[in-house]
Amino acid sequence: MTHDFDHDPPHRNRGDDASRQVDLFDKSPPPWELVAAEETAIARVVFSQSPHGPYDYAIPDAMRSHIQPGSRVRVPLGRRRGGTMGWCIHVDMAGKSRHKLREISELLDEEPLCDPALVRLVLWIAHYYQAPAGQVFDTLIPSSVRSSAGTKQKTYFRADPKDLTEEIVAGLSPKQQAVARILLAANAPMTAAQISIQVGCTEDPIRRLHKKGLLSSERRREQNSGMTTRWQINDGEAEKTHHLTDSQSDALKQINQAVESEKTKVMLLHGVTGSGKTEVYIRAIEHLVKFGRGAIVLVPEISLTPQTRGRFERRFDSVAVLHSQMTPAERHFQWQRIRSGEVQVVIGPRSAVFAPLPKLGLIIIDEEHDGSFKQDTQPRYHARKVAIARANSLGIPVLLGSATPSLESWHATRTGHAERLSLPDRVRDRAMPDVQLVDMRIKDDRTVGAISRPLHQAVQETIHEKGQCILLLNRRGFATTIQCPSCGHVVACPDCDMPLTHHRDGGKAMCHYCDFCIATPPWCPACRFDGIRYGGLGTQKLEVEVKARFPNANVARMDSDTMRRPGSHQKVLSAFRSGKIDILLGTQMIAKGLDFPNVLLVGVINADSALHFPDFRAAERTFQLVTQVAGRTGRGDRGGRVIVQTYSPEHPAIQAASRHDYIGFAEDELINRKKYNYPPWGSVARIIIRGTEEETTERIAEELVGRIEATRDLLKHEIRILGPAPPPIARLRGKFRFHALLQCPESGPLGETIRRACQDFRIPEKDDVQYVVDIDPMDML
Ligand code: ADP
Ligand code: ZN
Repeated sequence: MTHDFDHDPPHRNRGDDASRQVDLFDKSPPPWELVAAEETAIARVVFSQSPHGPYDYAIPDAMRSHIQPGSRVRVPLGRRRGGTMGWCIHVDMAGKSRHKLREISELLDEEPLCDPALVRLVLWIAHYYQAPAGQVFDTLIPSSVRSSAGTKQKTYFRADPKDLTEEIVAGLSPKQQAVARILLAANAPMTAAQISIQVGCTEDPIRRLHKKGLLSSERRREQNSGMTTRWQINDGEAEKTHHLTDSQSDALKQINQAVESEKTKVMLLHGVTGSGKTEVYIRAIEHLVKFGRGAIVLVPEISLTPQTRGRFERRFDSVAVLHSQMTPAERHFQWQRIRSGEVQVVIGPRSAVFAPLPKLGLIIIDEEHDGSFKQDTQPRYHARKVAIARANSLGIPVLLGSATPSLESWHATRTGHAERLSLPDRVRDRAMPDVQLVDMRIKDDRTVGAISRPLHQAVQETIHEKGQCILLLNRRGFATTIQCPSCGHVVACPDCDMPLTHHRDGGKAMCHYCDFCIATPPWCPACRFDGIRYGGLGTQKLEVEVKARFPNANVARMDSDTMRRPGSHQKVLSAFRSGKIDILLGTQMIAKGLDFPNVLLVGVINADSALHFPDFRAAERTFQLVTQVAGRTGRGDRGGRVIVQTYSPEHPAIQAASRHDYIGFAEDELINRKKYNYPPWGSVARIIIRGTEEETTERIAEELVGRIEATRDLLKHEIRILGPAPPPIARLRGKFRFHALLQCPESGPLGETIRRACQDFRIPEKDDVQYVVDIDPMDML
């Protein structure tokens, strides 16, 4: 069995963990001079840049009482001048070394930025996801914190009456006398600026006094910008606490018990859309705050709406919201607040799982099925897995919540790795909305464009009744292909070999995989035929059609093109809430978390867009998207309905979504996955190899996979290897790509095999080929 729910992560009682894990990196240290073994204090240090270490360094006597695992240090490394910044992961005050070790040159923080539990988490992530520990530290501690963004070093002066006796003061120049008197009278140290304003002098007399040794000084680092703790909470909602439904109370009771037990436990709150999951989270946190503990709530970035924030900010005194649009100074300030212990709740996306609350009592992951919880760059961690590892090392519970749980989490409740809590009904006895499937294969002469007759009629009725509509189309841009009808040429990205998408604003043809962008060619670049065609439907084109069909309606589009500017997301949502917008159309952004009672209709323009992807999660994603967007309606007294346009009305994912039948879908899909041992039944890893030359890249891919095969055979592990082969995106940003998929019933042997096979696999620099290991990949393209 293998997934996030295996508790092999670090345990707090295993004191030797750090050293044990470090052996896994096992690189022989540079050949320092050999000496007879003698006892010295040794720090083990890792680096975010290559070479990543770990390497041992001697700790100078002066640092012995301060240095700890998690401290940043500057050390000599290779021939680099000025030293290199590294992270200390282990300290041994009575160490023995066969080599003469170089000394640490500088200890960079008075207090380590990472406490011992977080250091253990770093080492676990580095091990499991096969990423350099130094890089994991850099992910865990935001760069704004490392650089102390928004702070300034200030020098404070103080006068001691023992040094500055009346006699001495009397002998000073008038300005210096004034400075001395002010400081003697003050009961706190002052900065030069403060003194000079009060005295009405330059800073010169202060400096002179200091030089004479008559004033003492100390330097302090202080925050001077970014100190906002509240954003707009004016989201039009009144403060209300609800009388909990029976199932909410039952769930809460279980969660409270888990929190009080101070044991690790994973709970999955499966609650249909509109069942009041957020209210349960809030009550659970209210409970643990009473014991002086704090909580982390992870949400998909896009769900960080004023609505979500408002709900928490109204109910707690001290909330820290982390989001991608903060300035570095703000981020640093929030981090310090969190670390000081004053924050009760941290809300944020994936990376908030690392928030340094000193007394963490619970980690909640809302919409736990969401793909954004997996990072798609090194270290490629999944926040759910990290949350469970962190909780496990602290002895605290994790609460996952979703209307459409990931199959991994669902499966865990079947195997006893997680406990299931259910909210089977919506609050206030509201019904789930009716879902009508429209079979788009049946051609209706009167249907031109993207909107079928039934959907057109429903929109019209809804607007007539002064209700609001949400229309989902998960493709942005205007046209998704630009093709010549004469020669068939498709305009593609020269760097990615993927078709370009035409964007009407500015007449641009853009690659959605890289930044490539050109003016859309007016004629075929291949045969010069004048009359190139735009095929495929994107949200811009849908917007044009909707505006033409419903000229009296106010229409807004929400996709990553219209939501570029900070705050635009909130602006559209508040206009929608206040009724200024009748039809909100957009990509999956509009499918998540919104709770607006006047939405009477949800239309899904093409439910199949993700269904035929070459990815074993295609059906799951389709089910989630349709169910989630359907859940945006029927949240008020006037009910709601859903119309789903599809070319595959009989597909089990679409069928189940139309019945709001998560359990039926999950159980069937588990059977499908079992046939091929896909997760959650087995573990998967993906190796992506990319390079500038196709042949070289392929050769190295073969070589690497060959090594993995040999290692597998040597270790006698049951691992199926598919590939190497070109992935669906065979060229990206000018690089050729190959990938291999590895499957194994368990994650341990799979990780071990890859680690061993890659251990001393070196690619000559001249080949310009790189590879990445993606453990538990979410992306198969
Ligand atoms: P979910 O996250 O499960 O979709 P929400 O937490 O958004 O559901 O709750 C849906 C709506 O129901 C919210 O407006 C919330 O304020 C309200 N609500 C939550 N619990 C109750 C309750 N016990 N009684 C009445 N309304 C409730
Ligand atoms: Zn491209």
